[in-house]
Amino acid sequence: MKAAVCREIRQIAIEELDEPSPGDGEIKLRMVATGVCRTDLSIFQGHLAVPRPIVLGHEGVGIVEAVGRGVTRFAPGDPVVCSIIVGCGDCFQCLRKSSALCENVTFYTGKMLDGTTRLSKGDEAIHSLSFQASFAEKAIVPERSAVRVRPDAPLDRLAGLACGVSTGLGAAMVRDPVEPGANVVVIGTGGVGLSVLMGARLRGAARLIAVDVVPGKLEKARALGLATDTIDASTEDVVAVVRSLTEGRGADHAFDVVGAPGTLEQAIEAVRPGGHVVVIGMTSGAVGAQFHTSALLRQKTVTGTTGGSIEPRRHIPEFVDLFLAGRLDLESLMDKSYRLEEIGQALEDLEQGRVTRGVIRFDA
Ligand SMILES: [Zn+2]
Ligand SMILES: [Zn+2]
Repeated sequence: MKAAVCREIRQIAIEELDEPSPGDGEIKLRMVATGVCRTDLSIFQGHLAVPRPIVLGHEGVGIVEAVGRGVTRFAPGDPVVCSIIVGCGDCFQCLRKSSALCENVTFYTGKMLDGTTRLSKGDEAIHSLSFQASFAEKAIVPERSAVRVRPDAPLDRLAGLACGVSTGLGAAMVRDPVEPGANVVVIGTGGVGLSVLMGARLRGAARLIAVDVVPGKLEKARALGLATDTIDASTEDVVAVVRSLTEGRGADHAFDVVGAPGTLEQAIEAVRPGGHVVVIGMTSGAVGAQFHTSALLRQKTVTGTTGGSIEPRRHIPEFVDLFLAGRLDLESLMDKSYRLEEIGQALEDLEQGRVTRGVIRFDA
């Protein structure tokens, strides 16, 4: 099978790998589409360490081709979205409906859940990113991260639900559910930020305040009807403008999708006493933040989310229902399609900010 293999930082090329077989509890998918996410780019750029050679890609959707031993929930022909959240279902966290915090899953090892690799080229072992390695014609994924979706859903439109879109929707709908009539600030309006705005709008937010330093991104948020107000953080005082839009009080919710030095402080300042702040982004890796304890004495809540804190088998089908009901515009987030052979171009377009979200389509 063809796969995009990353052997060195900033190098990726199509190679012919052995046809993979599912292990126990795993399913084999014929890929239909996969999103190209910032995390893939971070690894390509060398900002996030993984063992190489590795096949990247973790926003895959595909059709089940074969199932491994012990698989009970899937059969060949099933349409599947591969969630980035791989809960074991049995640990302390999973039993508390926090699969995103599962104690038995470690990311970025390049290995499958049993600690071995599933991809190969002759004698050479090839690693898989995030138990998916979706930049390939076939993928082996654990049954427990796979979500079967309605057969009438156009699978190639659902790639974002594996990671980015679900993270944004989940932040505003699951991790910190926005109340009807709420005022919401979203700092960083790339693909995930737009998804947060979509989630907040679905929850009935009154004011959707989009913040970014790239005017084109703010225009897109407005054009999609996802921003009632926009703030260009490179020229405007974010906190002052948010207060002026919210009767001097501050917003009810702020989502920091950037995670750069200063953005968390800005989010904390921009919410009202009793307001909520959720950190989603880690663009520059982990950063420190300093804020006054008075923010906490004024009962502000500061938290974060992994993958939108969704329970994939519950929430992804709900998001698909919203999409099919015409209430969730997944297509506008995906502005460019590529063939697998164009993966280098797709990563470059993302790096240069030329796309909100690129999608590789395998039948194209
Ligand atoms: Zn991702
Ligand atoms: Zn677990």
